[in-house]
Amino acid sequence: MRRILLVEPSYKNKYPPLGLMKISAYHKLKGDFVQFVKGCDPALRRNRWDRIYIATLFTFYWKITLDTIRYYLPSVTSPKNIFVGGVMATLLANEIEKETNVKVIRGLIDQPGMLDPGDRHIVDALTPDYSILTDINYEYGLEDAYLGYATRGCPNNCAFCAVNRIEPEFVHYLPLKKQVKAIEEIYGPKQDLVLMDNNVLASENFEEIIKDILDLGFYRGAKFNGRLRRVDFNQG
Ligand code: SF4
Repeated sequence: MRRILLVEPSYKNKYPPLGLMKISAYHKLKGDFVQFVKGCDPALRRNRWDRIYIATLFTFYWKITLDTIRYYLPSVTSPKNIFVGGVMATLLANEIEKETNVKVIRGLIDQPGMLDPGDRHIVDALTPDYSILTDINYEYGLEDAYLGYATRGCPNNCAFCAVNRIEPEFVHYLPLKKQVKAIEEIYGPKQDLVLMDNNVLASENFEEIIKDILDLGFYRGAKFNGRLRRVDFNQG
């Protein structure tokens, strides 16, 4: 059993770290021990970890992210046992590697074997592990929600936007119902629905996506636990 530490730098954010939640699901499938932490924790730093994953977000979090990577370097036997992924990591991969010598994952983990050569799982397709959120005291604001995607990528190519570098292929439709049901089966019903899509309006299947959302119980005026349910279209 490997010991895996998942780290999100201590920047403020309202969306739970979906990538780390899927990586957690992957490692638990492999029988590994997984611990999640937000920021720099001296006790966890003193431990030894077989692998540490560090999430990244916006490029203006460069300093806090690099400080976090450097903080955990003594906790692994080699910098190559620290895997850094996410938005900033994809955009500034060469710079991060040059500064820290860690392994940078560019874009999505959407092919088998990207974390362990020869493994058959596709991490990006796994049901996120919500249980890691109880490892920390931080409140994201949107954690009582089904987190999912109805599309991936974006068909546009705006010069200022990073989406095409992170998700280069536009996928018009992903089965939202399947994702929500899988989360509900393991972690119980959630209050809200958060779509992490970049540009859901560009989908040829937009009407089908809206039907899926309605069928899942997110219609106008829908309530759960006495509160109105929300659908958060992250960026679309
Ligand atoms: S996600 Fe928005 S900003 Fe980015 S390429 Fe698509 S339309 Fe342009």
